[in-house]
Amino acid sequence: AKPAVAVSACLLGEECTWRGGHNALPADAIARLREACELVPICPEVQGGLPTPRPPSEIVNARPASGDEGVRGTVSSCALANEDFCSADEGEALEDACLRVLTNEGKDVTAQFQAGALAALADARTAGCRFALLKEKSPSCGFGRIYDGTFSGVLVEGSGIAACMFADAGIRVFGESRVEELLAFIRQGRVRE
Ligand code: SF4
Repeated sequence: AKPAVAVSACLLGEECTWRGGHNALPADAIARLREACELVPICPEVQGGLPTPRPPSEIVNARPASGDEGVRGTVSSCALANEDFCSADEGEALEDACLRVLTNEGKDVTAQFQAGALAALADARTAGCRFALLKEKSPSCGFGRIYDGTFSGVLVEGSGIAACMFADAGIRVFGESRVEELLAFIRQGRVRE
């Protein structure tokens, strides 16, 4: 059987971005992915109940965890994903203690981002995904680098809510600029099998 790979649906051409557009990969890359893998499309923001189009959102106050090497995500997104990562005092409400996802108009969409990420992760787990190809820089799907919460285009070390949950669940996350690396990993896996 082909390995299952969770993929940000917008990378496959689905019009689910906040603008109502897509971020489709080149057709030949999609074709090679489809040939090598069973693709499991996910869109955490839509799965969390947000409309399309929708206002842009960012994780506010994203910062790397102290002592972290910087790949696992922000304190905030991991905390939102999994209480074990939370720097809050025991019993302190996550919403008060940790970082939030806000729209550019200041509306708190943390709950939708969290619910959607959990739903996307459930889909990936059900399908047995060990890899994910996720849209870079997104507050949901971005891995390793996201916008800093000021809506000014500045990137900081950190990961989106869903990407952080995927990594925490042991799913190897690749951004779309690393699609060839992902395909190489999958080929290696098949050689070993
Ligand atoms: Fe959906 Fe992720 Fe693409 Fe945003 S980056 S549109 S959340 S799949």
